[in-house]
Amino acid sequence: MGLRPNLLTRRTAGVASTTLALLLSTAAVGVVPAASAFSAAPTEACAEPADVHSDARVKAGAHAKHEPNELTVKETREREADLAAALRDRANFRAGAGAAALATVTIPVVVHVIQEDSTRAGGNIPDSMINSQISVLNQAYSGATGGAATAFSFQLQKINRVTNPAWFPIVQGSSAERSMKTSLREGGKNTLNIYLGELSDDLLGWATFPKRRLDSMDGVVVLTESLPGGTATNYNQGDTGTHEVGHWLNLYHTFQGGCSGSGDSVSDTPAEASPAYQCPTGRDTCTATGLDPITNFMDYTYDSCMYQFTAGQAARMLTAWNAYRAA
Ligand SMILES: [Zn+2]
Repeated sequence: MGLRPNLLTRRTAGVASTTLALLLSTAAVGVVPAASAFSAAPTEACAEPADVHSDARVKAGAHAKHEPNELTVKETREREADLAAALRDRANFRAGAGAAALATVTIPVVVHVIQEDSTRAGGNIPDSMINSQISVLNQAYSGATGGAATAFSFQLQKINRVTNPAWFPIVQGSSAERSMKTSLREGGKNTLNIYLGELSDDLLGWATFPKRRLDSMDGVVVLTESLPGGTATNYNQGDTGTHEVGHWLNLYHTFQGGCSGSGDSVSDTPAEASPAYQCPTGRDTCTATGLDPITNFMDYTYDSCMYQFTAGQAARMLTAWNAYRAA
């Protein structure tokens, strides 16, 4: 699929380099934002990765290919049905085991640093950046940055440094990604595996949505230089990590579904026709009540622009945790 220019986004942003929350590079001049990023049409099914339960964030201005975390209407319908079924199963299981649903959750985190060599350009970042990323996650998910408090906190268990040029860059949807994850993934359904590296297609990151049966693809892939203090201009405060973990906890994009239907399946995020890039204050793309949720972590705006989850998103994540990831 080709790229589709999104003039609306560029005009709204008022800046030449549009887009991207998820795509980085190419920000060049006048470039058209990533195809995926723009499509208001949620039905674009092209280039979906082999595992359709994944999602990505792209940088503005990138030539992007389809952003893997944007789902079709059919896919979201299937995911919602699966969530309902998983909840029924878990309720039956808990009734039998006398177990209660969790209200607060500490998530163990394993960070895999994929390096080409020992240089910074080759992916060798200091531990301090990883520790800062964990802090950013804890602040975002606790509501400390201005949004709703969620049930989740994050605890770093391990940093696993891997030098392997065959996995650098990490190519979304590739057999190399599969072998990397198969080799490295650790822990159970509740363990968050984060893979840091140089990424394909100007992507900032991508993630898998939860599934009832854990598989080795489960986890979050994040551009190394998007961590706090990294070199990814406008996307280097750690919110790619925040965004991708949101998908891992079952959140859709705020622009999922556009202006119609059930949108992102969260009632307190106003409908949004398409992704917002940069920080277009006052943007309002749907006739329904409310300005576009450009400050939400699940949009595509600059890290400096996004600072919150809503109470509805917090509830959705906790429900999904108890359905899919709780022990
Ligand atoms: Zn995303």
